[in-house]
Amino acid sequence: MIAYDFDYYEPVKIEEAVELYRNLKKEGKNPYYFSGGTEIITLGRLNLVKPDAVIDIKKIPECNLFRYDQEHLFIGAALRLNEFEKNRSFPLLSSVTKEIADHTSNNTITLGGNICGQIYYREAVLPFLLADSICITARESGLQKRKINDMFNKHLLLEEGELLVSLATKKDYVEAKSISIKVRQQWNTGYPLVTVAALKIEGFIRIAFSGVCSFPFRSETMEQILNDRSRSLRERIKAALQKIPGPLLNDIEGSEDYRLFVLENTLTTIFKKLGGE
Ligand SMILES: Cc1cc2nc3c(=O)[nH]c(=O)nc-3n(C[C@H](O)[C@H](O)[C@H](O)COP(=O)(O)OP(=O)(O)OC[C@H]3O[C@@H](n4cnc5c(N)ncnc54)[C@H](O)[C@@H]3O)c2cc1C
Repeated sequence: MIAYDFDYYEPVKIEEAVELYRNLKKEGKNPYYFSGGTEIITLGRLNLVKPDAVIDIKKIPECNLFRYDQEHLFIGAALRLNEFEKNRSFPLLSSVTKEIADHTSNNTITLGGNICGQIYYREAVLPFLLADSICITARESGLQKRKINDMFNKHLLLEEGELLVSLATKKDYVEAKSISIKVRQQWNTGYPLVTVAALKIEGFIRIAFSGVCSFPFRSETMEQILNDRSRSLRERIKAALQKIPGPLLNDIEGSEDYRLFVLENTLTTIFKKLGGE
């Protein structure tokens, strides 16, 4: 049960959603965009978030896109994760999102909610970081298109009231050879001990991680080291793991040392499978 009341809005247009947010803010309220609602409700029950108004974005057509134009695949932020199990046009996205939660929860959790949420794994962002996707967002001033790698630094850098509408990914990257591996401490569902996603573009393997630090990341420094074939794969992996861009998680899922051990094995498997030895 949530121990407080909140107003519920269901706009059908992007501009309406952004304007509602602005007006509610002006009235002194604490509005939240509401997509799957799983995190808002979970954290709301714990009094860790306290919206007094939610703006449900699921009726906005642009937030529900799954279509190609000439060059890009557009994917709406309000699509539920199970959509990508049915529609496997972007295989890396399907393989990452399938593992995020159990099938029932994935029927509710949305792409935008996972990427914009507070729960720091945000695994759904990994394929987009690797594929240099474009974020389409909405502000009061109109639609913005920016590279995700310019606007994702530990979390998606959105202005107050900015809405993630969709993500656009070049066809070549959508179709590129890829793999993702999620390792948990136990069971088949749950948060990752480590998740590693990889995409091979023109012989170069790109790598992104979740569950390693308290934020998901793609590291070009690590990629350069891992792709330097003048050294053995083992040497490259050892050297790359020295360049993790933050303190390793050391929590109930596993210690730092155990994570490093699992990462080493996971990277070895990935490089062997993608022909990057
Ligand atoms: C059983 C279970 C297991 C889970 N396991 C994992 C896991 O292993 N890995 C993992 O990564 N996650 C995991 N999660 C976390 C879960 O992925 C997030 O809590 C969830 O993705 C939030 O998605 P939602 O659509 O319900 O978001 P919501 O609750 O609707 O929103 C979350 C936040 O994002 C904001 N937001 C939502 N959409 C937008 C948008 N379009 N633009 C701007 N802001 C927006 C909201 O205002 C809110 O602050 C798990 C969740 C559950 C329930």
